[in-house]
Amino acid sequence: MSISNSVVRQLLETCTSWRPQMYFKASLTALSHAMEDLVLNDSDTPLVIASFQRERFYRQESHRYKRIADKSDQVYVLAAPETEFGDRSEDYETIAFEPTDALAQEWHLVIIGQHYASCLVCREKSFSANDKERNYGAPIDANRRFEGIWTFNRTVTIEAAKIMLDRIGIYRPELAAKIALANQVYLSPKKVRQKKSNINSPLTNPDPFVQRLVTYLQASQYKLLKANKSLAAKQQKEILLNSVSDAVRRSLHTKQILQVAVQKLGEGIGVCRCIVYRCREEDATATVDREFTSPRIKSVRGQKWQLANNPLFEEAIATKETISVDNTLEDERLHKIAADKGTGEFFQNLIQNYSIFSWLLVPIFYQDKLLGVMELHHCETEPIAWKADDIALVDAIATQIGVALIQAEAYADLEDLNEQLEALDRTRSNLVAIVGHELRTPLSTIQVCLESLASEPDMPPELSQIMLDTALSDAERMRNLVQDFLTLSRLEGGGIEWNLETLSINECIDLAVSNVKARNHELELPQIKNLTTPKDLPLIQIDGEWLVEVLVKLLDNACKFTQADGKIAIAVKTNGGNTLEIMISDTGRGIETSSLETVFDRFYQEEESLRRSAGGTGLGLAICRQIVKNWGGKIWAESPGKDKGSKFYFTIPIKATRNNSEKSTQKTAKSKASSQKSNKKPKK
Ligand code: ADP
Repeated sequence: MSISNSVVRQLLETCTSWRPQMYFKASLTALSHAMEDLVLNDSDTPLVIASFQRERFYRQESHRYKRIADKSDQVYVLAAPETEFGDRSEDYETIAFEPTDALAQEWHLVIIGQHYASCLVCREKSFSANDKERNYGAPIDANRRFEGIWTFNRTVTIEAAKIMLDRIGIYRPELAAKIALANQVYLSPKKVRQKKSNINSPLTNPDPFVQRLVTYLQASQYKLLKANKSLAAKQQKEILLNSVSDAVRRSLHTKQILQVAVQKLGEGIGVCRCIVYRCREEDATATVDREFTSPRIKSVRGQKWQLANNPLFEEAIATKETISVDNTLEDERLHKIAADKGTGEFFQNLIQNYSIFSWLLVPIFYQDKLLGVMELHHCETEPIAWKADDIALVDAIATQIGVALIQAEAYADLEDLNEQLEALDRTRSNLVAIVGHELRTPLSTIQVCLESLASEPDMPPELSQIMLDTALSDAERMRNLVQDFLTLSRLEGGGIEWNLETLSINECIDLAVSNVKARNHELELPQIKNLTTPKDLPLIQIDGEWLVEVLVKLLDNACKFTQADGKIAIAVKTNGGNTLEIMISDTGRGIETSSLETVFDRFYQEEESLRRSAGGTGLGLAICRQIVKNWGGKIWAESPGKDKGSKFYFTIPIKATRNNSEKSTQKTAKSKASSQKSNKKPKK
C-alpha cells in the first residue's frame, strides 16, 4: 500500500493560516530529540507518532522509542523498511510503508499529552540540479533541507495526529480499536484536562525544553565546527598540493622542479628540513641535491647519502610507499643496523650531528621506475608522530614531482633530438653544397676538355693529350667523392658485414704504404718510415680490408699535408690491455688545438669547403672514425699546433689467445689484398 498524498500538504490545507518554515536536518534532529526528552522526563502518558523516512534513520533512535514506550501504550513508529522493519505490535506499534509512499519524503513527530502537545511535520526539499551544480554533488547530510511546521499549538498538533492516525488505520486496519481509543483520549479537545498543579508544559515552563534544545543544537554546532575544521585543513592541503603541482609543472628544468618542490613543501607542511636527491634503485649512494631548511637548521646539501643496506630506502623501494620514522632514537629498523659500519654510522652521524628525530622518506616513482627520493626531517628535540593526512599529501606531491621530472626529461630528450636534427639539417645543406661544388667543378672541366677535343680535330697532339689527362683526373676526383659518400653512408647505416680475421699488423701497414706509394707514384712524397719492431707484437683480430682503409686514409692525409722533404712515421705499441695503439705522425702543417676533435666531423676541412686547394672530400677522417668505432676502438689526433706536424692515433683489438688452430686460419694481408681487389668494396 502506497499513499501519494503528502501529510504536510494535507495539514496546511486544514490549517490555512499556517505557513511552512525551512529547517535543516541538524535542527530537526535537535528538535526531535528535545521533544522526545520532554516525553521521557515527564509523568504524562502521551500519544506519540513518529514517522521516519527510512528504517536506518529509525534504527538510530530505536533505543529512545523503547524507553518512550515505557511511558505510554499509544506509541506509533512508521518507516520504509530496508531490512527487517515491518508491521509489529510489540513494545510499540511499528508500521511499514512503501518506499514510494509520500511519507518516505517526510519527517513527522506528533506528541499529545495532558500537559503539552507538539508536532513536527516536515517534507524534505528535493535537491535541485542548480544546487547540485553549485555544490558539486549531493548535499552533506546535516545540510539536507526540510519544509513544514514545528509547533506547540495543540489544535495544529491534533490535526496532524488525526491525519497520521487515519493513515495508520489504512496501513494497519487491525489497529482500528486502538486508533479509536487514541482519537477518543487525545484528539477530542474537551477530554484534555490540564492539571494546573503539575504543569510542566514548555509553554508555561520552557526551561527544561529550551535547555535540552540548546544542548542538542550545541552538539550539532560542535559537529559542524569539527567538520568545518577538517574541511579547512583539507582545503589548505589541497591549496598546498595545487601550488606545488603548479610550480613544478611550470618548469621543464629538473633542478628547478626539485628546488621549488622542496621549498614549497617544506614551508607548507612546516618541517625543519626537506631534501631531495635523484637516484636509481641499484645506487649505493646519492648526493643531496636540493634542500629546504627552516631557520637555524643545519644544511645537508651536497652530502653523500647512504642507500645500500639502508633499511628505510630498501623498505621504500620494496613497498613503493612512504616510510615514516616517528622517533629515530626508538626505531627498530635503525636499532638493527646500529652496529653496521657503513649504514649504522651514517644514521648515527645524521641523528647526532643533524638532530633528525622524526623522518619521512618518500620515494618518487614514475611507472615503477625510481626517479629519486624526497625526505622530510623534524629536528626539534621532541619527535612527532607523522599524520596519515600529511603522508598522503606528501605522497601526492611526490607523484606530481615524478610526472614533472619525466616531462622535463622528455623535454631534454626532445631538445637533444632537435639539436641532432639541426645538425643533420646542417650536414644535409653542407652535403648539397659540397656535392654541388665537387661534382660541378670537375664536370665543367671534363665538358670543356671534351668539347675542345670534339670541335678542334686539328689540335696539336700534346695539347689534346693534356686535355684528355685533365678530363680523366677530374673524372677520378668525382669517382672518389661518390665512393666516399657511399662508404660513409653504408658505415653509418650499419649495412656492412664485418669479416673478422686474425692478422699481423705489420703486413697491413706494408700493404697500406705500398698502396699509397703506388697511387701517388707521380708525386714526390715525404719519406714514410715504419718504426714498428715486428718481433713481439701480438696478432690482431680484425677485418683487414677496413684496417687497411683506415691506414691508407691517414697516410694519404699525412702525405697531402706534409712537404716532400718532410717525414711520416708509423709506430705500433701494445696498450697494456687488449688493444694495439697505432700512431701515424707527420712533420706537416699541423692542426690547431681547437680543431683536433672537429677534424673528424663530416666535411670538416681547414679551408672553407668551397675554396679548398689540397683536394679531398672532407669525409676521410669521418670514415676512419666510423670504422674504428665499429671494432670498439678509439681514434684521436694530437698536434703541437700550426706547422708543427700532426699525430693520428687509433686502437685495434688484439687476438685474446694464440694457438695453432688460429694460426692456421690466419690470412696474410697480401692474400686479403688480392681478395679485396677481386671482389668486394671498391676503394679509392
Ligand atoms: P680531406 O679529404 O679533406 O682530407 P679528411 O676528413 O681526411 O678530409 O680530413 C679533414 C681535414 O683534417 C683536412 O681537410 C685537414 O684540414 C685536416 N687534416 C687531416 N689530416 C691532417 C694532417 N695529417 N695534417 C694536417 N691536417 C690534417
